Amino acid sequence: MSFTLAIVGRPNVGKSTLFNRLVGKKLALVDDQPGVTRDLREGDAKLFDMRFTVIDTAGLEDVTDDSLQGRMRRLTERAVDMADICLFLVDGRAGITSTDLVFADILRRKSARVILGVNKAEGKAGDAGALDAWSMGLGEPVRLSAEHGEGMEDLYHILRPLA
Ligand code: GDP
Ligand code: MG
Repeated sequence: MSFTLAIVGRPNVGKSTLFNRLVGKKLALVDDQPGVTRDLREGDAKLFDMRFTVIDTAGLEDVTDDSLQGRMRRLTERAVDMADICLFLVDGRAGITSTDLVFADILRRKSARVILGVNKAEGKAGDAGALDAWSMGLGEPVRLSAEHGEGMEDLYHILRPLA
């Protein structure tokens, strides 16, 4: 048996960077600027000896007006429906933003099974963000650096029971 993990969260927290690390290919575009990737992207993920399906919720980056929230909500809800578990990523350097809270609300309303990931936490960079993340009431945050590959063992141990 395997499982499907959806990586969700607001634009620019590092979803595609993590997707690429897990899939090991440049399937999802990563960009410093908004407006690059669209829609939902699915890939075969490998984390040490564990294999699963991963979904990247892109397509959030290309809308900057009022329709952003509706679009984010629809895409995230679709990803949640496809997934067994969601990795809700926040940016450990930025701390929790009002947009993060919108995502937390979507996940709560969908009764999604959630792992809270504090990304960009390489070194001590995510310390404040990780503390901040507790306030969302989504359990213990796992500190990650998608870019530098930190926290992957912790993520493995959380996901292992599902594999
Ligand atoms: P997405 O919009 O959530 O898919 O975010 P991206 O994966 O496109 O990443 C947005 C920006 O954050 C890019 O400039 C990445 O290089 C950067 N980034 C992603 N992961 C990390 C990380 O672990 N640490 C740091 N410092 N930057 C990261
Ligand atoms: Mg992306």
